[in-house]
Amino acid sequence: MPLTKPRILTYRMTGAERRFSLRTLVALSSLPLFGVVAAFGLAPDTSTTDIAPETVIEAIALPSLADAANAGTFERETVIQSGDTITSALGRLKIDALEIQRLLATDAVRQLAASLRAGKRIQATTSPDGQLLSIRFERRDGPVLTILHQGDSYIAQEDSDQIETRVVMRAGHIVSSLYGATDSAGIPDKIADKMADTFSTTLDFREDLRRGDTFSVIYTVKYRNGEPVSTGELLAAEFVNAGKVHRAVLYRDASGHESYYTPEGQSLKKGFLRSPLEFSRVTSNFSSARKHPVLGYTRAHTGVDLGAPTGTRVKATGDATVEFAGRKGGYGNLVILRHQNGYETYYGHLSAFAPGMRRGRAVSQGEIIAYVGATGIATGPHLHYEVRIAGTPYNPLTVKLPGSPSLAAAQRGRFLQQTAGWSEKLGLLRGTNLAALD
Ligand SMILES: [Zn+2]
Repeated sequence: MPLTKPRILTYRMTGAERRFSLRTLVALSSLPLFGVVAAFGLAPDTSTTDIAPETVIEAIALPSLADAANAGTFERETVIQSGDTITSALGRLKIDALEIQRLLATDAVRQLAASLRAGKRIQATTSPDGQLLSIRFERRDGPVLTILHQGDSYIAQEDSDQIETRVVMRAGHIVSSLYGATDSAGIPDKIADKMADTFSTTLDFREDLRRGDTFSVIYTVKYRNGEPVSTGELLAAEFVNAGKVHRAVLYRDASGHESYYTPEGQSLKKGFLRSPLEFSRVTSNFSSARKHPVLGYTRAHTGVDLGAPTGTRVKATGDATVEFAGRKGGYGNLVILRHQNGYETYYGHLSAFAPGMRRGRAVSQGEIIAYVGATGIATGPHLHYEVRIAGTPYNPLTVKLPGSPSLAAAQRGRFLQQTAGWSEKLGLLRGTNLAALD
């Protein structure tokens, strides 16, 4: 009985496939509540009755033995237990000690013996008289290894690598910090960063977090031979902050550009970031008259000062062209960016510029343009940040900044086709009210 890989394990993602059928949604809702985290793969054509979380964890690709169809052969299978040696595992397959010695004389099996992993399977095929014909090993770091009996010796054969992308869903809630909670939920930092970044225009993850806030993320993980090898993309996220629901879904337009939107199609990429620094505190506010801490006399403070250590990365707050990058009086090292519609932003007292910062260069929102310092007239390391409109400085913390356009009506159908399933799932994940462990 050939064991083929259950399709539910694999949701191979091509751009065009990143959408969900109704059936898959029904399948998800029929799952028993999954403890702290839930991880499973989905195939668009899965029948709902196939899905059970246990299957996902247990089912591992195990193609049939090459000669399983031959009448008169016997198959045995065992799963490696913790504490097993290759000898004890093979012993359970009724392979005699002498044969085990001969197997261990092959390089491939010796290597395998040194990296046994509990849960991996071994299948042996024998002839009616007990002669070992072949043996297949699932391995920790590679494709399935087959050892074939040929004449008096054994030859090793490797299956080709199995690469697949699985969709993972996780949820948690905040006890003390975002990263504490995402770590507890087993969410990779890359995904936690992306979530923080995606919601950064509506939520300040340092200031606004509340104990009991909940979050859910849906993302992809690349697997090789059943082992996770790299984290892929954040597909959707939800963050419930002080009762207010924030949601994001990834949308890929026809030309391949990816961006996060609310499920209603509102762009989450704002025209401007709230702050050019990831973490900072305002040490001096915008004011029309303040006593200057160094110069001693009273004059307008045309921006905000954001306290941060020297070397902290400074991001462009909006898409722009570099207007100026160099030294300028009390500003010290200064970058001036020119944005659309007469907006300019100033970044002063910098310790250094990012490579290639020169007049005329295009920069994207969020791109690192420079590093915090204390050049020019400054009492300590901080970023002086200004927003000017048609040359006049406005308070960056309160000025109304232009937003990003929402989705064009023509894209609506495509958008919903790609993202509606994720939105539904975010709701279902929240319903599970998963526990945080931190
Ligand atoms: Zn300042």
